[in-house]
Amino acid sequence: MHEFTLAELSHLLQKREISSVELVETCLERAEQFNDGLNCFISLFPEPALERARHADELIGGGKAGPLTGIPVVHKDIFCTGGFKTSCASKMLDNFIAPYDATVVDKLNMAGSVMLGKTNMDEFAMGSSSETSFYGPVRNPWDASRVPGGSSGGSACAVSARLAPAATGTDTGGSIRQPAALCGVTGLKPTYGRVSRYGMIAFASSLDQGGPITQTAEDAALMLAAMSGFDENDATSAEAGVDNYTATLNKEIKGLKIGLPAEYFSEQLERPVTDAITAALNLLEEAGASIIEIELPNTELSIPVYYVIASAECSSNLSRYDGVRFGYRCDNPKDIDDLFCRSRGEGFGDEVKRRIMIGTYVLSAGYYDAYYLKAQQIRRMLRDEFSNALKQVDVIITPTTPSTAFPLGARVDDPVSMYLSDIYTVSVNLAGLPAISIPVGFNDGLPIGMQVIGDYFGEARILNVAHQYQQITDWHKRVPRDYQ
Ligand code: GLN
Repeated sequence: MHEFTLAELSHLLQKREISSVELVETCLERAEQFNDGLNCFISLFPEPALERARHADELIGGGKAGPLTGIPVVHKDIFCTGGFKTSCASKMLDNFIAPYDATVVDKLNMAGSVMLGKTNMDEFAMGSSSETSFYGPVRNPWDASRVPGGSSGGSACAVSARLAPAATGTDTGGSIRQPAALCGVTGLKPTYGRVSRYGMIAFASSLDQGGPITQTAEDAALMLAAMSGFDENDATSAEAGVDNYTATLNKEIKGLKIGLPAEYFSEQLERPVTDAITAALNLLEEAGASIIEIELPNTELSIPVYYVIASAECSSNLSRYDGVRFGYRCDNPKDIDDLFCRSRGEGFGDEVKRRIMIGTYVLSAGYYDAYYLKAQQIRRMLRDEFSNALKQVDVIITPTTPSTAFPLGARVDDPVSMYLSDIYTVSVNLAGLPAISIPVGFNDGLPIGMQVIGDYFGEARILNVAHQYQQITDWHKRVPRDYQ
């Protein structure tokens, strides 16, 4: 039963061919069996999950079910889950029990889904490999010696190994799309403001956005519909209405104009990735789409701009972890300064400290204009470039990552090479646009992802393109050998 997609499971549940209790039991057994090897879960909640599954079965029996009723989901451990540990994969929050549910969690609960547990990630979502977690690295189900990508690596890993049909993730600079690409699953980062950030632990508030990780675009559409919508608890949440994302999945893509930015196909891109994207584009052309070359000339500035802005925002957001109100507190502080310094010094890992230091530096009085202000100005230019390009085309297609999954340990000691893993994803966050990553091939047994970027609130369009591609290919159906 574990191999089915969310949409297939939903159908089986409605027809009462399976029960939610059976399904949740299967997922929990698999999670327990495989978590030692993969380390994709920080917590599992078997008892509460089974209780919710029993309730879901009653709703289904009473004819009161929606498409997600009884469906097991796992949440990235960055989403607050009331009454349950919410660690953000940091020693700082290892003892933190969230007092309330994030809006995303609440909405998915209301839709009837069953939370199985919380997934492992890079500490405070800072990273591209899920190696900076306080709980140790997550492994890639396609090759356990390689990273699953990050920061939502545990979520992508769990869906890829078929431990859960759907997961939530967050994406500040690529953290949904990049691990989805490296694990061979589908990951959607919605338009900034589409999904509420309330209760989602903040990294960089002007960039963070929650979204689904699933096997297929159809499943992502079902999850997104449940997760989206205006939330008065989040001042940046958009009032725009939520589309019926499943209704337009089957629209033909004849006449679709696809923009191809030459800047995204430079030497850094591994040959097999280029070949897989080219093959995918050929299929889309055969289905009636046309390819138009576009220019995004300042793309190379997106990494430095992102690391200035994201670090600046994180240095401010993470100032709340002071050892006083919640989270880790050092033993026997001498005075208040000692309490702050040692609690933060002992509670945060190296990558988080590096970001806080960069952030406070770029925001300091002497350097603000040279770094932070400049970065904001370039951010606006990048955004305008995308807006202009999206006047000529319907969607933009790029690789999701320059390479397939890299070996564990290969980039942890070289932050710049780690940061370059996000070269194709960060500019989308800087612009606030929606984008999806879907599997389009393999190299040496490792998955390759393709990114489809849409216009603001154009999630329905990119889901449609992704779904049409998945109707004529089967990359998304491949399951890593040990987890079939
Ligand atoms: N890898 C990027 C970073 O380290 C993006 C992380 C994310 O999207 N949360 O900041």
